[in-house]
Amino acid sequence: MRAMIDHIGIAVADLEEASRLYQTLGLEVGEVEVVASEQVQLRVVRGGETLIELLEATSGESAIQHFLAKRGPGLHHIALRVSHLEARLRQLQAAGYQVLDQIPRLGRDGTRVAFIHPRSASGVLLELVERPEPK
Ligand code: ZN
Repeated sequence: MRAMIDHIGIAVADLEEASRLYQTLGLEVGEVEVVASEQVQLRVVRGGETLIELLEATSGESAIQHFLAKRGPGLHHIALRVSHLEARLRQLQAAGYQVLDQIPRLGRDGTRVAFIHPRSASGVLLELVERPEPK
């Protein structure tokens, strides 16, 4: 499988307010999903194949809250869909890129994810997403 953009993550201060723009534009906005492990709640905006995740912190300890405090709302990360995630991580590390997760963690929707440090990606937090094989 060729790598492709899976989703774009946007840090927002107010999920409902942020959702309204996309609803006004006629895009399909999903229900609120809580990801307790990441201390965020999110809504997924369907933009064809590529999704937009609107991410709101649910606690002061959330990485999204730290991001908002430092930079304000805005583009938080870009996620690429890949296969063979462990092999990709080893390959990246061998090539000298700094990965934030040596071992993939569980993402939403049955995915496994790992992040690449912005220092290694032109200042952008990059997420790698492996989706479960369709049955
Ligand atoms: Zn993401």
